[in-house]
Amino acid sequence: MARNNVRYLTPYQSARRLGGKGDVWLNANEFPLPVSFELSQKTFNRYPECQPTLVIKRYSDYAGLQPHQVLVSRGADEGIELVMNAFCEPGKDAILFCPPTYGMYSVSAETMGVEYRTVPAIKNWQLNLNAIEAQLNGVKVVYICRPNNPTGNLINQDDIRVLLEITVGKALLVVDEAYIEFCPEATLSGWLSNYPHLVILRTLSKAFALAGLRCGFTLANKPVIDLLMKVITPYPLAIPVADVASQALSAQGITLMRNHVAELNANRTWLLESLSQLRIVQHIFPSETNYILVRFTDSSGIFKTLWNQGIILRDQNKNPGLTGCLRISIGTRKECESLISALQALSMEGA
Ligand SMILES: *Cc1c(COP(=O)(O)O)cnc(C)c1O
Repeated sequence: MARNNVRYLTPYQSARRLGGKGDVWLNANEFPLPVSFELSQKTFNRYPECQPTLVIKRYSDYAGLQPHQVLVSRGADEGIELVMNAFCEPGKDAILFCPPTYGMYSVSAETMGVEYRTVPAIKNWQLNLNAIEAQLNGVKVVYICRPNNPTGNLINQDDIRVLLEITVGKALLVVDEAYIEFCPEATLSGWLSNYPHLVILRTLSKAFALAGLRCGFTLANKPVIDLLMKVITPYPLAIPVADVASQALSAQGITLMRNHVAELNANRTWLLESLSQLRIVQHIFPSETNYILVRFTDSSGIFKTLWNQGIILRDQNKNPGLTGCLRISIGTRKECESLISALQALSMEGA
C-alpha cells in the first residue's frame, strides 16, 4: 500500500548503515575525537521551545547575521528537506543539483515525489552554467554544495554570482556550507542581504564534533525563514540537543572548534604529502575540507583490504565520474599514520 516513489526509493547509504568493524573510522567526515559536555537542564516534563532562543542568538552572532535570519533544525539534512517541502509542488516542480555531490538532495526529492534534474560538473568540478540555465524551466530549488562533498573543492565565487543572477525570481539557490569551518573565508553568508533567494545550510556535525547531536542551521532572509517555520515540526530539537548546542556555540566552544580545525588542517597537510609518495595513488584532488578524495589503482582491492584491517574509508566508485576514487576523512595524526602504514604495505606488495 506504500506510495510508488517510496517503494522504488533507494535510501541514503549512510556510513553507519554500511557498517564495518574497525578502530580507524575515516568514512563519515566526523571529528575523530569526542568533545564532552555536561547537561545543564535535567528535567524534561515540558515541551522544548521550537526555536531555542539562546541557540538562535549564539548562532546568529557566530554567523554575523540577525536572529530572524537563522533557523535551527534536526541537522542540515532536515534543512534540505524543509526548503523542498516549502517550495516544491510534488509532481510539478523540480530541484536541480550538479553531481558528483552530496547524496541527500536526490533522496529527499525522491521521498517527496519531487523531480530532480542533474547537470554534471565540468573540469575541476566546476558548474556547467550554460547547461544549468537550459535546464531551469520548472526548477524551484538549486542545491550547490560548497565546499563540495565528496570532491573537496570550492565552486568559483563568480559562477555562484552568475547562478544567483539567472535564478532570480525563478528558483532558490541553496548553498550547503556543511564544511565551511575548514575554509571560513569562503562563506557566502555576507551575500544574504543582496539576494532574497539565497539560502545557506550549516551544521554542528563536522567541525563542531557533534554529528551525534543532530543539529543544523538554515540561514536566509526573513520571508524564506517564515515559510520554513510553517512546515517545520512543532518541536524539532530535544531539550538536551539545544542545551549542548548552546554550549558548543559559546565563545569557549567556538575557540575549541577553531583549534580542532587547525589540528585537522595540519593532519591534512601531512596526509597529502604522505599520500603523494605512494605508487598506488593516481591522483589526489585538492581539498578545502576535513576529507580528501583520492584516485587509486585498484581502489576496490585497497578498500577491501583496509576494511578487513579495520580501517574504514568511503568508496566513491559508484558516484558519477569517480571511478577508482576513495574518500578519506581526516582523523587524528595517529589514525592518519595507521592509514599510511597500511597503504605503504599495499604499495610494496604490488611492486
Ligand atoms: C554531513 C553533511 C550534511 C548533513 O549534516 P547534518 O547536520 O549531520 O544533517 C549536509 N550536507 C553535507 C554536504 C554534508 O556532508
